[in-house]
Amino acid sequence: MIVVLKQNSDKERVERLMQHFTDMGLRINYSEGEHTTILGLMGDTTQIDERDVLAYDVVERVQRVSEPFKAVNRKFHPEDTILSVAGRKIGAGYFNVMAGPCSVENEAQIIEVAEAVKKAGASFLRGGAFKPRTSPYSFQGLEAEGLKLLLEAKRQTGLPIVTEIMSEKHLDLFADVDIIQLGARNMQNFMLLKELGRSDKPILLKRGLSATIEEFLMAAEYIFAGGNQNVILCERGIRTFENLIRNNLDISAVPMVKMLSHLPIIIDPSHAAGRRDMVQPLSRAAIAAGADGLIIEVHNDPKHALCDGAQSLDIPQFDGVMADIQRRVAFEGREMQG
Ligand code: PEP
Ligand code: MN
Repeated sequence: MIVVLKQNSDKERVERLMQHFTDMGLRINYSEGEHTTILGLMGDTTQIDERDVLAYDVVERVQRVSEPFKAVNRKFHPEDTILSVAGRKIGAGYFNVMAGPCSVENEAQIIEVAEAVKKAGASFLRGGAFKPRTSPYSFQGLEAEGLKLLLEAKRQTGLPIVTEIMSEKHLDLFADVDIIQLGARNMQNFMLLKELGRSDKPILLKRGLSATIEEFLMAAEYIFAGGNQNVILCERGIRTFENLIRNNLDISAVPMVKMLSHLPIIIDPSHAAGRRDMVQPLSRAAIAAGADGLIIEVHNDPKHALCDGAQSLDIPQFDGVMADIQRRVAFEGREMQG
């Protein structure tokens, strides 16, 4: 349920109303926008009679929210959320490109790619240290050593880093990571969602391989429910009957999520396509659809990459794609972060 307050309401009276809801065991999401202030009520609101709430003179109107996601619902927070991470703004009019290899392989590789993507204008360095692989015999990532190398690349280039977590047991290792990625395969790992909810780190939450948009937003709701409001969503393609393409980029998820939620959403064209020649067209589609950024795989030697080489751009290709992205982001009147 949302309670829209009258403009310039007396603070003390608002506090009295909030106390009334807290006494009923409800949690309140307070959202003060430019024009409206909204109390989003979470918990068992079936006990509330709307007429009782309207009796408070600070209340403009009361509306029931039928969607199961509350805190991430745009009705609770009508304005776009803008996150600020390492001096970069994410969301609304700001556009970020996160780029780097699928996996951190060695120091020379990650430093070379970090320098190149920074030069091309990326605002974050991506790279997996803990890798969720379909086969237990595939390269599993350098794990803690990979995190160290990423931090070294961050130190040398100044680029903030985004990297995937696979277990809540590793959270301490991620203390200096700027954005923690929760991968598609863990989107409904509820223990991990709860732990990330208790942390204050920005979370890049990737959509599960077969998750509906509602399930995707409910996963974000878990993180919010724990108190962490720093969530960036990522559409990375879903499973369909089509098998020529690794995953199907669900471009309609962008406007749909924007309608339903205030959270930023970026696109991963690399995992969606599974092939490098589709990264540019899908990036263009993402910008046109209103995405807040892209996460792109880049490798200094894709032929010999230990993971996802076929979808990784080499450095000159990334330079070309970035130049194209920059032109199109400017055309859309949005501001590139770098
Ligand atoms: C990745 O970003 O390398 C990755 C494994 O992504 P996803 O979880 O979307 O498959
Ligand atoms: Mn990958």
